[in-house]
Amino acid sequence: MQKYWGLILMLFLSLSCKDGKTVNQELSKKKIASIVPIKKPIVKQFGFNLDEFTVKQDTVKRGDSFGELMLQHKVEYPKIAKITEEFRDTFDVRRIRVGKPYLILKSKDTTETAQVFIYENDPINYTVVDLRDSVVAYKEKKEVKYKEREASGVIETSLSEAILDQGIDYNVTNNLSEIYAWTIDFFRLQKGDKFKVIYKEKYINDSIYAGAGPIEAAYFEHEGRPIYAFAYENDSLKSIVDYFDEEANNLRRTFLRAPVQFSRISSRYNLKRRIRYYGNKVRPHKGTDYAAPLGTPIMATADGTVTESTRRGGNGKYVKIRHNGTYSTQYLHMKKQNVKRGDYVRQGDIIGWIGMTGNTSGPHVCYRFWKNGRQVDPLREELPKAEPLAESLQPAYFEYITPKKDQLDCILYPEMPVEEDFPSEDMVSLNK
Ligand SMILES: [Zn+2]
Repeated sequence: MQKYWGLILMLFLSLSCKDGKTVNQELSKKKIASIVPIKKPIVKQFGFNLDEFTVKQDTVKRGDSFGELMLQHKVEYPKIAKITEEFRDTFDVRRIRVGKPYLILKSKDTTETAQVFIYENDPINYTVVDLRDSVVAYKEKKEVKYKEREASGVIETSLSEAILDQGIDYNVTNNLSEIYAWTIDFFRLQKGDKFKVIYKEKYINDSIYAGAGPIEAAYFEHEGRPIYAFAYENDSLKSIVDYFDEEANNLRRTFLRAPVQFSRISSRYNLKRRIRYYGNKVRPHKGTDYAAPLGTPIMATADGTVTESTRRGGNGKYVKIRHNGTYSTQYLHMKKQNVKRGDYVRQGDIIGWIGMTGNTSGPHVCYRFWKNGRQVDPLREELPKAEPLAESLQPAYFEYITPKKDQLDCILYPEMPVEEDFPSEDMVSLNK
């Protein structure tokens, strides 16, 4: 059976080339700081000095209404009516949602009358209803700052809960696997494959971690073969960002490597396959089987038009897509299709879900790759590349990537993990 190594996400804040300390020393200090949000006492927030008010902080409960909350805090009815009627575009009181946080800033005198109502639409956007003097409502955003981060890792064991256990943002792995989805077969990662990445982290009000931003530059070494990736705006009119290598080749291919993310190849394309069930007769397998849990989304590996979406015999429920005059792909044993005949699908669109319909002993998708009307092994095909960066953009591109590439080259790999921190033997053997 295929070995497959997932990423263990060991993200290490690394050093500049000239710094002498080891990565692990640095890690022990900085890792914690980068993951645990620093809680500051609330002093000035949302543009108000909260010390000047009695602050009630709560979340919207079932049955709460804006009017009711205001009446409880001694706001006169005409003011409530004014907000409800005149500021509907800014703050639609009917749309306050259960679970959303809000603040009521009350006067510090004995009346404790509400002065300001602040509703948090999401972690970044909020709405202020100022009830003092002439009533107004306005929308504001918290200040979001981006901090650049560097990380690196060596693939040691399978992708697992360890990623989350370490408190690393899952989006970083996810983004990395998307950037390299066309060039690296993530089902056949090898122990010792390495990566480096430069990305941004979002912080609200300088201190509250708000997730990982997109990857700016990355390096992946698979079976000793290095692949650089640099984010660059391909089309400034449409703001389309693509990833290119150090020679301005597009990292995308016209086909994804696999129709499912993070699964396992359970059976490869094999014209000489023998099956015991059929008396060890040769039963060619003209597909590649990807085993994954029931209900896992199945993606179109390239843009195209759905030519079949039906249920038939051993194939079970399946979808077939025509990509162009040369290529078609087919996806068998679905639990349910998500497209119908004639639909146009884009690469990565969910066309159905992993199931067990037709002849199958376990949940998987049998992926069939047709070239000029014949079924071939996609893992052996040299897949056509997407367009390289336009020649007119290349001089600026090379200028842009030179320092980024130097920066990547300077990132050190972490020392191999110590035993108590990482699952080792057991995890590996489970996944063989
Ligand atoms: Zn199959």
